[in-house]
Amino acid sequence: MHDSDYYRKIGFKCGLEIHQRLATEHKLFCSCDAGMKPDTKIATVERRQRAVAGELGMMDRSTSFESSRGRGFVYNIFENSTCLVDIDEEPPHDVNGDAVETGIRLSSAFNAKVPDEIEPMRKEVVDGSDPSAFQRSMLIGHDGHIEIDGKKYSITSIFLEEESSGIESSNNETVTYNVDRLGVPLIEVDTAPDIRTPSEARSVALRIGQLLRLTGKRDGDCAKYLVQRGIGSIRQDVNVSIEGGTRVEVKGLQEIGSVDIIIENEVERQMKLLEIKKALLARKAQVGAVQDITKLLSRSGAKMISETLKNGGVVLAAGLPGFAGFIGYEIGANRRLGSEISDYAKMSGVKGIIHSDEDLAKYGFSEGEIESVRKELKLGKDDAFMLVTAQKDMCEKAITLATYRARMAMSEVPPETRAVLDAEKGTTKFMRPLPGGSRMYPETDAKPIVVEHAYRKKILDDTIFAQERIAKIREELGGNLQIADQLIGSPKLQIYEYIASRSKCDKLVVAATLLERMKELERGGLRIDIDDDVMVEIFDKYPEGRLTKAGIVEVIKEMPKSEKEIESVLKKKSLERISGNKLKELIKETGMKGREDVIRAIMSKYRLNVDGEELSIMLGGKNEI
Ligand SMILES: [Zn+2]
Repeated sequence: MHDSDYYRKIGFKCGLEIHQRLATEHKLFCSCDAGMKPDTKIATVERRQRAVAGELGMMDRSTSFESSRGRGFVYNIFENSTCLVDIDEEPPHDVNGDAVETGIRLSSAFNAKVPDEIEPMRKEVVDGSDPSAFQRSMLIGHDGHIEIDGKKYSITSIFLEEESSGIESSNNETVTYNVDRLGVPLIEVDTAPDIRTPSEARSVALRIGQLLRLTGKRDGDCAKYLVQRGIGSIRQDVNVSIEGGTRVEVKGLQEIGSVDIIIENEVERQMKLLEIKKALLARKAQVGAVQDITKLLSRSGAKMISETLKNGGVVLAAGLPGFAGFIGYEIGANRRLGSEISDYAKMSGVKGIIHSDEDLAKYGFSEGEIESVRKELKLGKDDAFMLVTAQKDMCEKAITLATYRARMAMSEVPPETRAVLDAEKGTTKFMRPLPGGSRMYPETDAKPIVVEHAYRKKILDDTIFAQERIAKIREELGGNLQIADQLIGSPKLQIYEYIASRSKCDKLVVAATLLERMKELERGGLRIDIDDDVMVEIFDKYPEGRLTKAGIVEVIKEMPKSEKEIESVLKKKSLERISGNKLKELIKETGMKGREDVIRAIMSKYRLNVDGEELSIMLGGKNEI
């Protein structure tokens, strides 16, 4: 971990893009189910994409890269969550008004300005995750900000857009996507590159997540959540650059906890790549021409080579004068310049490259073979080489990509979109070149949305903002900030607010039961599926004197799904509270005199029926047990 001085010196800049799925009933531009419920696959659709130049005659580098991979795409179609709009066989329907309202509420939560007219746009999608090759996106907020510890961070833009398809599987020829997720409304919150340390990035990501989660729609005394919860419902992309380096985007981080380590590692990677570049330039390193060395290795003892050759494959190699020691140079945990070159080669379908900074004996190469390759490529002691073996077409593609990446080692840190490889170690891998800026064009099939003053005011009037919600909960829980803050960050917040606003039960009892006791039950694998109003009734039994605190949890546990008869559960499971005269009788029945003995005897048998505090007071004590 470095301090902020270090990051200032290296010219560290970082911005975030947070993507959060919204909790609307329908998708953004059709009436398909957006609840992400399990659905039945009923058909598949196949598509191919062809790259074309834009109106300015330019081809985006990420587009041509993906196009050169020549992969086909298969889309799984689902019964309730896919329609013709999703596969671009029908124009979009009217925009989902709920999603627009949510977008306006969330934009306001980030102090952003909402445009008077929201224009649907198309954004090019190059990885096939959209069957139409574009994603609909609308700027719904701009020039906002958040403040953390007195520092302002600009929120440059907020987009309301369509979620992409989820990937099911992929290989060299085909990527298969599930179209159930496609088109679910999504909010993208973009910060300016104002972030100056990795730990600041983590705080900003946490705050944005909290604001997205806690902004709600007023619903009586409660607030309705606007966003989905659970795995994958929020994803963050981080953009990182350092002086002399370049902007690199790491995509799709699902764990906020790994934001800082991913960034630290990306900085490290760019620093090491810059070191390598300097050293290579000093050595006047080069990337040699590709040579076919199939004949030379026709009797190779390396299994990988002999097997490929047996199936009609070839071996292509490139000399790397001046590269010795740098291909194997570590740039992250288990990552070397060689891994970066390999990532590029893999895009052709090969498993990777073999290079001379590796222990070649482990592949089965003999000393003599290695010598003959070096001789063929005319290499000296500071020189390295790499080779690829595969069927001819694939092999040619692979070595071209590998030499392309090796050449960049001498000129720049390549601008890339990268994916998380290992969140714990903070390592990433190359996905594709970073797309250029002009990927948006108007969506002429969808009407612009006019946001009139009165409409915006009505929406904002029934919005509950995070600050209000946090203050209310802290007050209700009477200064127990630990439980209050735990609740604020918990998925149980909404049900807490519902019960707290309707039940006479002590709010601290409600919060503690939901947070601690119920979590234990759920951890034990119990699925709690009780109607919200029934939950209110269960909690009401406590102030009515019918249940103890421990009894509440027990009823929740024993309550059968869709059962409304709490009383029968109470009787059947003997959970009714014993208090007053009945408790006095119980004390007498023990026949004991010592206070501690009586408490132990009764609580061991009636833990769920007797309130410890009442028993303690009855026995002349003051303290709770
Ligand atoms: Zn649909």
